[in-house]
Amino acid sequence: MPELPEVETLRRDLEREVSGKRVKTVDVPGRTAVTRQTKKQLASRLEGTKLGSVARRGLMLAVKLDSGELLVIDLGGTGRMRKASAREAMAKDTQVAVSFTQGGQLRLLDDGGEMDVWVATPEELLEGVPILGELGLDPFDEPISCTTFAHLLLRRRMKLRQVLGDPTAVVGIGPVYTDEILHGAGLRHERMSNELSSQEMRRLYRSLVETLHEAAKHRGTTLADGRYTDLAGKRGDHGSELQVYERDGKACYRCRGVVAKARIGGRQVYFCPSCQT
Ligand SMILES: [Zn+2]
Repeated sequence: MPELPEVETLRRDLEREVSGKRVKTVDVPGRTAVTRQTKKQLASRLEGTKLGSVARRGLMLAVKLDSGELLVIDLGGTGRMRKASAREAMAKDTQVAVSFTQGGQLRLLDDGGEMDVWVATPEELLEGVPILGELGLDPFDEPISCTTFAHLLLRRRMKLRQVLGDPTAVVGIGPVYTDEILHGAGLRHERMSNELSSQEMRRLYRSLVETLHEAAKHRGTTLADGRYTDLAGKRGDHGSELQVYERDGKACYRCRGVVAKARIGGRQVYFCPSCQT
């Protein structure tokens, strides 16, 4: 599923491509993405509005409309977004197609039923998705200080993989970047967050910030499934930079040890047994 660097890349793309455009018509050919309101309601609240800035709350995108409402797009694990010309054939899994008065379309696609699209007031959004009121640190929203991060680790008393995967601690980190951040810090998944030395906390902090920003600079990671692409349909370049994720059996770039794969807490994790302690 797309994680923070991928969704942030899409947010930046979206802001560049659709901000300032006015919605002409909205088609909802799909059945799974629009469930919080009827297709008609979605269309009538969108049509005629002008799109403004694009915010991100965790992994959810919210496009400001000049009506004061928000177009909310949650990709889930399977949703995708594309800009398209109106002439391009509509892909089978197109859920929503937004046409602009200046020409061109924004298409929202999903073949896995996890995408969630709706128009909401800011209050409706918070009511509909209560976790938005409890989101944790967001490294792209504002710089996190090392001290704030260290306090969080001390308070949580959880395994590192659980802290990193908890959106009320730090937003948007899934399986790929959990493994990458921990490798960068030289720490194992099962280490307890409140038992790190201050040097280890600093290493984890630095790795978290650097890993996510590097990945965003490379426009995200497209995995072997090819699912994630940017708004133009291009793959992210960060896949070739991954240090451990899906590299089991290969040499660790840092210590030449062999990258291992193990099942921990119900999912596969990748790590280097030699340089992660
Ligand atoms: Zn290693």
